[in-house]
Amino acid sequence: MPDRPRPDWCGRRQKLRIRLDALGLAGLVVSAPVNIRYLSGFSGSAGLLLIAADDAWLVADGRYEFAIREGLISGAIGPVTFERVHSRYDLTLAALALRLGLTRVGFEADHVTLSVLTSWERAGPTIEWQAIDQCIAPLRSIKDSGEVEIMCDAGRRLAAVAADLPAWVVSGRSEQSVAADIDRALVRAGFSAPAFPTIVAAGPHSAHPHARPTDRPLAAGDLVVLDFGGVLDGYCVDLTRMAAVGQVTPARRALFDAVWEAQRAALAAVRPGIPGSVVDRAARDVLEARDLGAAFLHATGHGLGLEVHEAPRIGRADPDAPGLIEAGMVFTVEPGAYVEGLGGVRLEDDVLVTAEGAVVLTDGPRDLLVV
Ligand code: ZN
Ligand code: ZN
Repeated sequence: MPDRPRPDWCGRRQKLRIRLDALGLAGLVVSAPVNIRYLSGFSGSAGLLLIAADDAWLVADGRYEFAIREGLISGAIGPVTFERVHSRYDLTLAALALRLGLTRVGFEADHVTLSVLTSWERAGPTIEWQAIDQCIAPLRSIKDSGEVEIMCDAGRRLAAVAADLPAWVVSGRSEQSVAADIDRALVRAGFSAPAFPTIVAAGPHSAHPHARPTDRPLAAGDLVVLDFGGVLDGYCVDLTRMAAVGQVTPARRALFDAVWEAQRAALAAVRPGIPGSVVDRAARDVLEARDLGAAFLHATGHGLGLEVHEAPRIGRADPDAPGLIEAGMVFTVEPGAYVEGLGGVRLEDDVLVTAEGAVVLTDGPRDLLVV
């Protein structure tokens, strides 16, 4: 793995504090493990991160003490003060917040369960616990320079794996064996793991967007959806290419061409300052014009980062999520059309948004691979 600069945990927390100031909050308890990792580098499965005005406290039990102290020395964990939990997380968290004079503490509304909140309220009855919606997801959606460097590298590696598909997609082989070849290639390419279970969906299975590979052999006439991704230095990339076995009927060729045109239209629409729904609409217009509107069963794209599905969502207009596309976002552009009896087609690439528009991170041949 190349040497990467340390993640800018302090810069990320500074941006978070600006959001907290706007909400009148002096403290925020971060409980989603992925957000704790984003803000501190700590990747344990238990733990809390308390963000206060000028410092951050990592609240964790003795199982993690050695790893945290080592991480602080090596720099794998950002500057935090370790607060050891001796008996219960709620008691330690409440005592720490009171010691710091925090009377209002925000928490992640989309992660804290009612039972956890109740335990915090019992442990710190004088603290006002304030549910905060979507406070870290918008920060994570704008990649900093270190994240962009990793994701560009990851996109190139994933495109290189895709370039080898002709070696594995062969008539008579099963979906599962093709998927296993892809998974091995992801490891060889330097990915620590697949970003999600690899999809190889042939023939009738191709008409189902999230089909799992089976032992069914690839057969003449099949369309084959090949959707796979990898995790590099914690960051996910995601790509879909299409193959066809034997002769391609005109109807299947037309389905492929429609989706490819929809993807080109969506990629061309990407720019900062517009709602994601404009990109989705560009793809949907192409498919609707070919009577395939009802065959497009999902959104056009999803954000990528520490998670394979994160903000922003590139889908139909949503009055509750009116966020705009911004420079620095990384998301997929993956229109698809799924027709029972004919098969399904999806093409997926990952883009970085710049002032000029979309930079495709997974560039490479998208033509229908006929095997
Ligand atoms: Zn995918
Ligand atoms: Zn995807």
